[in-house]
Amino acid sequence: MATSFVDKARITVKAGNGGNGCVSFHREKYIAAGGPDGGDGGDGGDIILQVDDNLSTLMDFRYKRKYTAENGMDGAGSRKKGKDGKSLTIRVPRGTLVRDAETNEIIQDMSDSAPYVLCQGGKGGWGNAHFATPTRQAPRFAKSGLPGESHDVVLELKLLADVGLIGFPNVGKSTLLSVVSKARPKIANYHFTTLFPNLGVVYVEEGTSFVMADIPGIIEGACEGAGLGHDFLRHIDRCRLLVHVVDVSGSEGRDPVADFDAINQELSQYSPELAKRPQIVAANKADILEDPSLLDALRAHVEALGYPLFTISAAAHQGVKELVYAVANRLAELPPVTVYEPEYVKRPPQIDTSSPVEITVEDGVYIVEGPWLQRLISNVNFGDYESRMWFDKMLREAGVFALLEERGIQDGDLVSMYNLEFEYQH
Ligand code: GDP
Ligand code: MG
Repeated sequence: MATSFVDKARITVKAGNGGNGCVSFHREKYIAAGGPDGGDGGDGGDIILQVDDNLSTLMDFRYKRKYTAENGMDGAGSRKKGKDGKSLTIRVPRGTLVRDAETNEIIQDMSDSAPYVLCQGGKGGWGNAHFATPTRQAPRFAKSGLPGESHDVVLELKLLADVGLIGFPNVGKSTLLSVVSKARPKIANYHFTTLFPNLGVVYVEEGTSFVMADIPGIIEGACEGAGLGHDFLRHIDRCRLLVHVVDVSGSEGRDPVADFDAINQELSQYSPELAKRPQIVAANKADILEDPSLLDALRAHVEALGYPLFTISAAAHQGVKELVYAVANRLAELPPVTVYEPEYVKRPPQIDTSSPVEITVEDGVYIVEGPWLQRLISNVNFGDYESRMWFDKMLREAGVFALLEERGIQDGDLVSMYNLEFEYQH
């Protein structure tokens, strides 16, 4: 059995945690006690996605499903900053959609070559050297690093091609692609040879080229789940134009008109929108045409429906150039390939705030710590007003402010929570 083409995968990614800040004091011979010199923790590494055009499937993700970037190292004495964790770059084929595994919303369409930061590494905590002020010369506290983001995502490959080849198996789609481009798809005289989509760049003339995709054959009844078919139609979702290849030779006893209608029927069952996509019909295998009336009937049929038809022989390279020019001219009038807009919005995470926080008072600074608080802070974008309001509400509801007041906090006293420091206001 042939290995099937992997075009969907679910993976878990986790950015590195930030390293902890260090509490340390400078020590030197003959100097009793020096100043604070604890270094900051290093930042955790990011999870980065990057398009790699050498990849054409999501095969690798079938075997490896967990991806973790390096943690930042803890800070050390002598103001030594912990080493930053290394970011992890995950390479994906061009046209990979990244979706949130829970909601299926699109996080990013990996269509261009810009790297995309999927998960941000946690910031390293500050060492005590950072907290020294004229009035607070010997801070005996440092901050813990923040956890790196993690995410369960689904990768889904939706090829990026201008032109998609459609048609029954064995009609000559792969042959056509191999003739017009440098792509070398497998060609054989039996059905379903194409199990992997193939992409080829078609150079038309100086400065004009387009990308053509050969996808596994569509068969009648594919929409009811018979064999290969609908799974692969997803790959032509983004094509701007379809070249519908029909075998007009009659050599396999096929009826070109019936074939043409059957494929279009499949398309519309999969997606009515895709069925309306512009098509150019390539009447192939004209070199072994036995009954010219088959070609005439097809021409009359498709032209009545408004599609242009080109008679070609892919194998004998006849009529192919004219077809390529017609495709290029039509593409010039069509909108560019669809790039999907991100839909995913980061939601406030469900954070259980029932466990108590720990408050220590050092040099008049109220240091608040606790596992849920750490998670909360790493999930707040403090540049955003609504996020700050949400954070405030969470703290209030969890009783953190009440607890601070119990401990005797006054307006204007400093509160320190991980990488956050603010003056208390009642
Ligand atoms: P696909 O399944 O649609 O990709 O079809 P292929 O490109 O694999 O071709 C199927 C068979 O048809 C192969 O044996 C090809 O050599 C043959 N073929 C393709 N185009 C032509 C053509 O223009 N003329 C003739 N005589 N044979 C062709
Ligand atoms: Mg093929």
